[in-house]
Amino acid sequence: MRTETPREAGMLARQVLAQASGKTQTELINGSELYAQDDVIEKAEMMIARLAKGEPLAYVLGEWEFYGMKLIVTPDVLIPRDDTCAVAEIAIRQALFLEETPRILDLCTGSGCIGLAIANRVKDAKVTLADLSREALAVAKKNVQLHKMSARVSCVCVDAMKAPPAFLGKFDMIVSNPPYITTKEMGELDISVKDFEPHMALWGGSDGLDFYRAISSNAHTCLKPGGYLCFEFGMGQGDDVCNIMTEAGFTIRERVKDFNDRERAVIAQYCKED
Ligand code: GLN
Repeated sequence: MRTETPREAGMLARQVLAQASGKTQTELINGSELYAQDDVIEKAEMMIARLAKGEPLAYVLGEWEFYGMKLIVTPDVLIPRDDTCAVAEIAIRQALFLEETPRILDLCTGSGCIGLAIANRVKDAKVTLADLSREALAVAKKNVQLHKMSARVSCVCVDAMKAPPAFLGKFDMIVSNPPYITTKEMGELDISVKDFEPHMALWGGSDGLDFYRAISSNAHTCLKPGGYLCFEFGMGQGDDVCNIMTEAGFTIRERVKDFNDRERAVIAQYCKED
C-alpha cells in the first residue's frame, strides 16, 4: 500500500496529470480551469492504477531527472538515485582536470545516468556506456539520442565481471555504480525495489562485493597509466571497497559522502603510492 502524505499525494497527482496531458506542471496549473480530454483522463487513470500497485513513479512516468538531465527510464534499468550524484560529482571534478578529450568508461551503466552526466559537464569527454543487459543498453541509447550526444557517447555490451574487451582501447577513467546488494539484503528490500527494479542491477553476490573485486582487478587492462577508477558503494561498504582497490594496485584519492551524509563514493588512481 502507498503511504503518501496528502501533500505528497498532491505532488504525485500533478506529475501524473502533467505527463498524461503532455504539459509542464506550470502549464497544467495555469490551465487548471480547463477540462481534461477523455484520452488524457484514460492515460492518467492507467498511470494511477500502476502507482496504486506500488510501481515506482519513475517507471510510471517513463522518465526521471538525474544531475539536471531528463532521462528515459523503463523497468529494464535501475531508477537513477540522488545518492549516485556523489560518484558522478567526483568523476566530473577529476575529468575536468584530465588531458584534452578524456576517454571515460561507465560500467554497469543502466540508464546511462552517470556517463551522460559526465558527458554533459565535461564537454570534450568521449564516453562509453557499457552494460551486459541489451535491454538496458537500448534505454541508454535512447538517452544518448535524447541529449544529442551520439558524436561523443557510444554504447557497448560488456560483462563487468570480465576484463573489458581489448577493442575498447584505453581509458583515462572508469566509473561504475555496480550492483552491491548482498544476498541477505535482497530479501529485505522495499517492495517498490524488489518487485519492480531489475535484480540484475541490484545483486552483488553473497557479500555484495563481487563487482568491485572483478572491476578492480581487471581495470588495469583498459586504463591508461595514472588512470582513475571511481565507484559508488552501499552503506558501510567503504572500507571493504577501498581495500579491494588498494590490493588491486590503486591509490585512494578521495572518499565522499552523499546528500544524506553517508559515505557513498570513492575515486582512486592506478599508480604507485606517492
Ligand atoms: N549506472 C546506473 C545507475 O547508477 C545503473 C546501476 C546499476 O545497474 N547497478 O543508476
